[in-house]
Amino acid sequence: MRDDNLIYFVPLEQLEEYRDRAIVVRGVQAHEVIQALSGEPPESLAYVQLLDPEVELAPLYTWAEGLPLEVHLCRPLEQMGALYSLVPLMDRHPLRTSIPVLPGFSKAVRVATSLDIPVILNIGQPTSEEVDELIQVLEHYLHDPTCKVSIEFFHSFLVSLRQKDESTIWDIQEDAPDFSVWVDDNGAESPLRTSALWRTDGDIVVTYEHVLTTLSQEGVECRECAHLQKCVGYFKCPDPEYSCELVKVLLDRICEAAQELASDVAGYK
Ligand code: SF4
Repeated sequence: MRDDNLIYFVPLEQLEEYRDRAIVVRGVQAHEVIQALSGEPPESLAYVQLLDPEVELAPLYTWAEGLPLEVHLCRPLEQMGALYSLVPLMDRHPLRTSIPVLPGFSKAVRVATSLDIPVILNIGQPTSEEVDELIQVLEHYLHDPTCKVSIEFFHSFLVSLRQKDESTIWDIQEDAPDFSVWVDDNGAESPLRTSALWRTDGDIVVTYEHVLTTLSQEGVECRECAHLQKCVGYFKCPDPEYSCELVKVLLDRICEAAQELASDVAGYK
């Protein structure tokens, strides 16, 4: 089903099928990405995801100036050294790195921020140890003067609280079911962040209304949660039984930081 309001996250193999839609293209080898896009990227291309930071990146040094790149670390502890090779790309491309929240990921985040590479955290359903690391990374982002770049979702969450806008973690992480569609190597489409809780019969692109209705019926923890408006059940995906006790501590800390920032700004007026 085609929907012109959606952005499609497509592998190189499916590029031709989606070339006329809003797309994010992903690939492993830089030269294959350039070749598949026939040299010049289409206007509908929002950005390119590179799935391996350890491949030869030189072809990108002279290609498509200004096109944003997102470089994924799959194994943060093993691959964080490869972040150094991204620095030359930043002269030509807006660039960020996607780092999964896995044990030890905070070390990779610190390497990235030391190189002034913005970070987007790929958050699943973090363990207690991973939430501890998330809180350390939040403190690094908030208080370490050497961190001068954004770490998402923290950055946009804070901005959203300050501006009192309606964006949610789903929007910030580009996972919103009414915004983005994942296309797999075989062309099958699904929401980026899937859960049995969110699915409706035969309808893969669910809406917030559906999510909220479902939460009010089934998601007891969400129904009572102070963060429902901003989180909208994000951390209940994919396992609705996941306990958010510790995640709520992290979200509380971000809300406190937003209040502290507001007080600081008021104090300067
Ligand atoms: S933090 Fe957990 S309980 Fe609260 S809204 Fe999000 S998913 Fe639901």
